[in-house]
Amino acid sequence: MGKNYGYNKWTEQEEDFVLENAKAFDGTFTHEEILRGLKQLTGVERNKKSIQHKISRLLAKYGLHNPQKINFESYRLHKDLTLLDTEFDKGSYGQYRVMCTQGHITYKEPCNWRYGCSVCAGDFVGGIPQEDYRPAVVYLIYVEKLNALKIGYATGRGVDAIVTRFERWTIPYKYTIVAYDQSTRTEAAEHEQWLLDNTLEYKTFYTSPGFDGWTEFRDKKVLKQILPEYETVLDTAFKI
Ligand SMILES: [Zn+2]
Repeated sequence: MGKNYGYNKWTEQEEDFVLENAKAFDGTFTHEEILRGLKQLTGVERNKKSIQHKISRLLAKYGLHNPQKINFESYRLHKDLTLLDTEFDKGSYGQYRVMCTQGHITYKEPCNWRYGCSVCAGDFVGGIPQEDYRPAVVYLIYVEKLNALKIGYATGRGVDAIVTRFERWTIPYKYTIVAYDQSTRTEAAEHEQWLLDNTLEYKTFYTSPGFDGWTEFRDKKVLKQILPEYETVLDTAFKI
């Protein structure tokens, strides 16, 4: 099936363009402008969510987060959630602390506040480690037997981190590694949650099939949508 896949890895040229524009962020430029600029530059049309996420990750990577005030009243908050943060200066793509009626404390972007607690929903286990710069990856594996992808988080570096994770905590099927994104524990955990939150409607299982990590399985349809969010895409990705 070759490369005719709709998948375009983010190029350095694109990242530079996004970074330059994002650095100049003064609340006046819009994502539509970046989207148009990128299209002029490369002819490739990126998905808006992908651009928003790229901006946030590039700014984090280079320590350039320019705090932006948000009007928190303009975002709907799920009835079971309480906002714990009182400073709303992390911008509309920042992570804000929320607590559910069961006492789970998680971090959510304002656009996801309306979805309720992700721990209660079984979509996220544990909290996001804050300012932890030790290495971690967000991985993407494919399980042929289930014809599904799994998004996950593993501490350590590269493929080794993923292999080690599945030695400790196995799934009953063979898997192939499709892609991974190397960053830090904090960044990888946020990235993983973002990927999971944005693919919820493609969940493979709605009840437990009897093994761990089942809430992170997604229909393979999401491959094209999420592959650009990984820095390292292996050849296996193009064989699915
Ligand atoms: Zn909860």
